[in-house]
Amino acid sequence: MRIHSILTIATALLAVSSLAFADDKDKKKNLNCEVVILGGGAGGLHTAFRLAPTMGDKVCLFEKENRLGGRIYDVSRTPGGPVFGLGALRIMETQEVVFKLADELGIQYVAAPFEDDLIRARGVSANDSDSLRTAAYPRTTAGESALYDQLRLGPGRANAGKYPDMRSYMRGTIGTENYQFLADIFRFRGDFTYPLSAKAYLEFLDEDWDVCCTPSYPVGGMSEFIKRMAQRATQKGARIYTSEPALEVESGKGSRYEITTANFVVRTNRLIVAIDAEAFKRVEGDVARKIQKQAQFQDLMGVKVASINQWWPSAWWQNANPGKKTRRAWTTESCVNYIEIPTTPYGANQLVTRSVYEDEKSCVDFWEELTSRGTTAVEAEIDRGLKNMFPNVNIPKPLKTEVKIWPAGWYWLRAGSPYSNMDIAAWAIAPLQGEAVSLVGESYNPQRSTWSDGAFKSSINTLNAVFGLNLPGQTATANGPINQPGKGKNGLADFRAIR
Ligand SMILES: Cc1cc2nc3c(=O)[nH]c(=O)nc-3n(C[C@H](O)[C@H](O)[C@H](O)COP(=O)(O)OP(=O)(O)OC[C@H]3O[C@@H](n4cnc5c(N)ncnc54)[C@H](O)[C@@H]3O)c2cc1C
Repeated sequence: MRIHSILTIATALLAVSSLAFADDKDKKKNLNCEVVILGGGAGGLHTAFRLAPTMGDKVCLFEKENRLGGRIYDVSRTPGGPVFGLGALRIMETQEVVFKLADELGIQYVAAPFEDDLIRARGVSANDSDSLRTAAYPRTTAGESALYDQLRLGPGRANAGKYPDMRSYMRGTIGTENYQFLADIFRFRGDFTYPLSAKAYLEFLDEDWDVCCTPSYPVGGMSEFIKRMAQRATQKGARIYTSEPALEVESGKGSRYEITTANFVVRTNRLIVAIDAEAFKRVEGDVARKIQKQAQFQDLMGVKVASINQWWPSAWWQNANPGKKTRRAWTTESCVNYIEIPTTPYGANQLVTRSVYEDEKSCVDFWEELTSRGTTAVEAEIDRGLKNMFPNVNIPKPLKTEVKIWPAGWYWLRAGSPYSNMDIAAWAIAPLQGEAVSLVGESYNPQRSTWSDGAFKSSINTLNAVFGLNLPGQTATANGPINQPGKGKNGLADFRAIR
């Protein structure tokens, strides 16, 4: 009796809420679009930009935020002032697809080789991994390069899939001390601490080894890609809506799909989801749920990232590391990990630093918590960390501090996944059999995890395979990979220079 009445009340509430939703839907404006793109980051905008010349206003893009760009997010100290990235910053020499796009969009970029690094671990500071190893890791059995060779090219690799995750593979193959050494000297410790599929991460490493050598920085920031793609798409008629989150993706009646956003009910026969996987988990509706239930989708794992930019009254770093031109430093000794000081004029002239760039979960959680206590707390902690790294320098109070916590800064394949990275890239082109849906973006292309290159290539895969375009840079069809991923022919120095 009691259960029955609870059920009756629950059913009544459900009926009322779906009535309210239906009523709410009735108040929204109707739109018909031949192609709907959800998400206005690099992947979604690239897709709109490429489709617009032939499809014009038949293309509609809906972005949740009041700005476009997603993980490409440039901020300035003063309104209208020069910008610096809180998300993506650079493109690498070998990322041809991105360079071609920059040229096509008329984006200028400045090449700026990394200068002297500073690594601090176990109470020791050093300017390269070999010196740090000698001073602080005497029980290691080989240097960084040889250890990576063992992981990538050694006989143990054949069994990588048998290890529960990448961490266990590394510890099992090279031992705990060597593993700790590699973790400590790499800036991105998320790679060493998240439960990643060993097989897929090694595939990524093989290709990332070939990402080389000198980074380039777009003048005006990576958001130049976003601005210019959006501008070109709208000039050709594409309709781009901001502050319009996709709330529901359902099967339609008069059309294949019906998408409910904040202000619209949108009908379309062709859908491109360019919302990253973690954010897409929050979208409702039967079509969204079908995607979310796919095993491949569930194997995508977002990594939480913190980035903090600071603008300064003076260039205190000029003499931070006597005799060296240190422009990047990282440490295991605090969560003030990985400071980066720009050297290209558009960044350097602003006296801005990325003071924190962190993906180790406990540290990112720490920054998130500290941020909730206010900027003063964040600045005090950064000051403490910087003084530890650069003990001989007077560090002034920053003029401005901007914090961004990325719930999913980039994506890997989860430990235990039976899929290869390229299986995922191919699956994303047509994840639901018999449906006209594609998934686009870095999160659906873990072979190029952490790079906007991943988002652009994922978009190219769908544009070529589904829309018959013939763009260079396609890596997969719906049936599988078409290009051999990189073989890691370049040296370790190149790999260490990046991200
Ligand atoms: C800190 C950091 C540094 C990086 N550095 C570099 C670098 O130097 N070089 C480089 O090449 N790459 C870098 N990257 C990676 C690069 O930024 C990303 O790979 C790329 O921007 C991802 O683009 P995307 O379109 O796949 O996803 P996103 O940019 O995440 O786009 C997804 C979009 O979907 C929107 N969205 C979410 N939910 C909804 C909804 N319900 N409805 C509608 N829209 C929705 C989001 O707001 C977002 O705009 C960096 C990333 C981070 C986080």
